[in-house]
Amino acid sequence: MNKVTCLSVLVPVYNEEECIDLLHERLTTVLDNLKCSSEILYVNDGSRDNTLLKLQELQSKDARVAYLDLSRNFGKEVAMSAGIDYISGDALVIIDADLQDPPELIPQMVEGIEEGYDDVYAKRTTRDGETFLKKFTSKQYYRWLKKMSNIPVLEDTGDFRMFSQKAIEGLRLLKENERNMKGLFSYVGFKKKPLFYQRDARIAGSTKWNYPKLIGLAIKGLTSFSTTPLRFVSIMGISVSILAFLYLIFILVKAIIYGDPVAGYPSLMSVLLLLGGMQLFAIGIIGEYIGIIYSETKKRPLYYINDYKKSDNK
Ligand code: UDP
Ligand code: MG
Repeated sequence: MNKVTCLSVLVPVYNEEECIDLLHERLTTVLDNLKCSSEILYVNDGSRDNTLLKLQELQSKDARVAYLDLSRNFGKEVAMSAGIDYISGDALVIIDADLQDPPELIPQMVEGIEEGYDDVYAKRTTRDGETFLKKFTSKQYYRWLKKMSNIPVLEDTGDFRMFSQKAIEGLRLLKENERNMKGLFSYVGFKKKPLFYQRDARIAGSTKWNYPKLIGLAIKGLTSFSTTPLRFVSIMGISVSILAFLYLIFILVKAIIYGDPVAGYPSLMSVLLLLGGMQLFAIGIIGEYIGIIYSETKKRPLYYINDYKKSDNK
């Protein structure tokens, strides 16, 4: 039994002035009915609207509220990491500000943690308000990532989940700069339990994601958890070399037996182009990994804090 004494709620927020009050209201209704005490840490990820003002207002009204103001927009992955470093509870739940994840699931998550699980994750059964393309690409991506990496990546699972003290400490140890949190949540392991839910549409405001950002995150996930693309390039190189060698023997033998009337511009050109393309592709994949090595060797701090206000709950 892991009794939860103080639950920390971590909310990364970026330009969410329209959502914050609605979220806070629904969240506090749920937290009021919990047996444990709680803290809500809002991480302002460099919002350019009135989000910070709203957070300061909430902080002065509600003793449970803490906020962390990052020096600029670092992206949701880093905002969550910063929050994980600053929370003070012995269980942590991460929730989006747009109410796509229902806070009403929190009591069940607490039960899961108290039963002895370390990561109670919400698994989507449906996703409203998202395009077919986004749902399809995200599903396929996680299927392939799971196949290519040797860590068990969870399908249809977002960042809405609750962690035990053990898992929180595990997450704090991960210092890499290129982060895909969903991968890291799986990486730390521990006992996991799914809860099923229907993902609603965003309550107000607009999504902060776009395809270039998502593709960037997808490449980050793939390259930081799997070296399968590199292996693929090696296998491709070996296969092409074997084929080329066989073809070389074929041409030599043909030239010895039948002579060589110098023809074959089309075949020459197509082989040249194919090989050129493959080489560029291979260099591109290797380049992705060099990019990661480059960024990790700089050892830059992950985020900078402009302001931090604690909750007065304890
Ligand atoms: N978010 C953030 N930094 C960013 C982008 C998003 O902190 O650079 C937050 C955002 O405020 C929200 C959560 O991450 O609380 C999820 O963002 P969004 O709803 O735009 O993503 P989606 O649900 O469409 O995947
Ligand atoms: Mg959303």
